[in-house]
Amino acid sequence: MRQAKKQNNDLAIDRLVIVSNRLPIALTRVDMGQWQVQPSPGGLVTALTPILSERGGLWIGWPGTLEKVNFHELIAGAGQDLGYVLEPVSLYKEEIDQYYYGFSNEIIWPLFHDLQTRCNFDPTYWKMYQSVNHKFARVTAENARRDDYIWVHDYQLMLVAKELRSIGVENKVGFFLHTPFPPMDIFVKLPWWTQILSAFLEYDVVGFQTRRDRNNFAYCIETMLKGVQVDARKQVSTMKTPKREIGIGSFPISIDFRDFAGLASSSVVSQAATMLREAVPNQQIVLGVDRLDYSKGIPEKLRAFRNALERFDDLRGKITLVEIAVPSRDDILEYQTLRTEVEGLVGEINGRFSQSGWTPVHYMFRSFERTELLAYYRAADIALITSLKDGMNLIAKEYCTAKVDENGVLVLSKFAGAATQLDKDSLLVNPYDIEGVAEAIHRAYNMGINERQRRMHRLRRAVARRDVFWWVDSFLKAAITREQTT
Ligand code: UDP
Repeated sequence: MRQAKKQNNDLAIDRLVIVSNRLPIALTRVDMGQWQVQPSPGGLVTALTPILSERGGLWIGWPGTLEKVNFHELIAGAGQDLGYVLEPVSLYKEEIDQYYYGFSNEIIWPLFHDLQTRCNFDPTYWKMYQSVNHKFARVTAENARRDDYIWVHDYQLMLVAKELRSIGVENKVGFFLHTPFPPMDIFVKLPWWTQILSAFLEYDVVGFQTRRDRNNFAYCIETMLKGVQVDARKQVSTMKTPKREIGIGSFPISIDFRDFAGLASSSVVSQAATMLREAVPNQQIVLGVDRLDYSKGIPEKLRAFRNALERFDDLRGKITLVEIAVPSRDDILEYQTLRTEVEGLVGEINGRFSQSGWTPVHYMFRSFERTELLAYYRAADIALITSLKDGMNLIAKEYCTAKVDENGVLVLSKFAGAATQLDKDSLLVNPYDIEGVAEAIHRAYNMGINERQRRMHRLRRAVARRDVFWWVDSFLKAAITREQTT
């Protein structure tokens, strides 16, 4: 945190206003009429808290419950704890159903992960998406001061700058997309692609996770919109419209490396890791941690693991896959179907290969506290990430960070954003190539300690060098530089 304060002091920003779908708090009903409000941890909150509290910032978002409560009263204390103001956007059930579950998660999420056949292009969702984005813009307009820098986050809120402009807000507004941005021929499947693409032109800076995402976006703009000049030569490229000049850059998000590494070295985590190892003696642990989301490639991972057990005798009885599947969006049918498929595969593999004293797949369907998760990372010999496409994949960075003894192998999907930074020292795989992933598991299992440590040492250095504070700093620097030059 101290480091972030130091870095961010240089920025010529007065106040920062963050706009995201969710406020960084968790509201839980504990008793009749009583609510517990807790700041929800996470990389984004950790990275933004120092700069927000130092400059008196504001975070605007949905508090996460549909119940009718006086949010201002309820969350004021949590804001004080965090050191900045939390401004709630109240939403009705119909709005959450159609804007969040519908448009955001049944259309944009699959489309931006190149899975257009999973999209449900329901026109009522689009209407609600526009109206909720307008609502977020209204709350922002009511609370932002003239010189505030407004930073909007993610695919749920792509229209906020356009809506702000329509109500006369002229502040500088930046946007960061946490998901991938798809290639043009996929993007234009979206019936409302013109409106969404044009809406991006109302931001001053648009940030992506990787250069590939940025290039996909630039190509779409250049090819599909008339009158926009794109200069993609610099690190932060520019797009010129008759109204404004927009910066577009890639800023790979990360984690608080020092905090994670420190906690991973603690005695609580070390002891918990030892216990996990002792539960599967003489075996290597392969770890998967994924939200139960079709973009994570969990069935593909299980099929590859099955293939590895079929083909490589030395793995049988010697390797255990621990798959932590975190419940997610279970109101959506696709997610329920996925769960059935995953659990069917786990049952099939265990039914077929288990021997006395060895169960090949340990499957858990729940979420874990950070210390428990760190213990799994530390205990795991191999992390197996098979996302079909992923904006970044923080699990990859967290696993490397937690391997304080450097004795671990990262098997990573080449379609995860993290692969652009961790490609050299992980074992990169194509998750659709079941035999290729099985071979990577076998190779990781047989990798000697020297090679493991050499690779993990470099992976950890790469994560440490560009942590989440670097991410905030580089996005805001790009935003501020533009402010000074345009
Ligand atoms: N995570 C967690 N509890 C769990 C499993 C995961 O808090 O039981 C966190 C994990 O530490 C990581 C995030 O969830 O920070 C997952 O981020 P990632 O970028 O890998 O995927 P996303 O779920 O955002 O698509």
